[in-house]
Amino acid sequence: MEQKLLVGGIISLTTVDYPGHLAAVIFMQGCTWRCKYCHNQHLQSILPKESLPWEDILNLLSSRKGLLEAVVFSGGEPLLQDALADAIADVKKLGFKVGLHTAGAFPDKLAKIVSSLDWVGFDVKHSFKDYDKIVSVPNQGDLARKSLEILIASNVDFEVRMTLHESIETSSIVEVLKEISSMGVKQVVLQKCRDKNEKVVEHPIFSDKLLLEDLSKYFDSLSVRG
Ligand code: SF4
Repeated sequence: MEQKLLVGGIISLTTVDYPGHLAAVIFMQGCTWRCKYCHNQHLQSILPKESLPWEDILNLLSSRKGLLEAVVFSGGEPLLQDALADAIADVKKLGFKVGLHTAGAFPDKLAKIVSSLDWVGFDVKHSFKDYDKIVSVPNQGDLARKSLEILIASNVDFEVRMTLHESIETSSIVEVLKEISSMGVKQVVLQKCRDKNEKVVEHPIFSDKLLLEDLSKYFDSLSVRG
């Protein structure tokens, strides 16, 4: 790989980060968004104290052939680093499926690599017009919507996940779920938000079974996680 990949951490085996697959997760350094509820603040800076050497990670993955089925690039925002494309190619050469966790901040970069992916977990933050109520950078909703359009058009398998922070109005959740349904999203996971002490702060929508039942009619699958 010509460009250095900045990796902030790795989980060598997980069953929850790529549905139905035994996977390793590589946490890419760097994210520009600063979401209200971010639990990976140590990954936000693009300048880590030290990065895990990519060759060491490849050697570890190599030793797990036959045990692992997939490798997921997570973050941070993996698409921030231009070295991601080469890293994906390296992982594919080892015979693993490739997953990506992204919030869609870089649609042009997603468009370049989407055909090399096997699965994407796509985070939706808020109704697209009000992204700055969660993301501390203005005008990101249009970028997220564009990324989601690229993903839908790609035919790559994916799910949309939305973390329901207590500050998000129920009307905004309903609005964005109906919008992404009309765009072509089939699978949605509503995630419970946790505070800094890892305690669940439950959004009121989770108690409204009738509303959840009604919203589930817009998707093949609408589930709750957390
Ligand atoms: S997009 Fe993810 S990594 Fe980036 S600030 Fe938001 S929650 Fe944290």
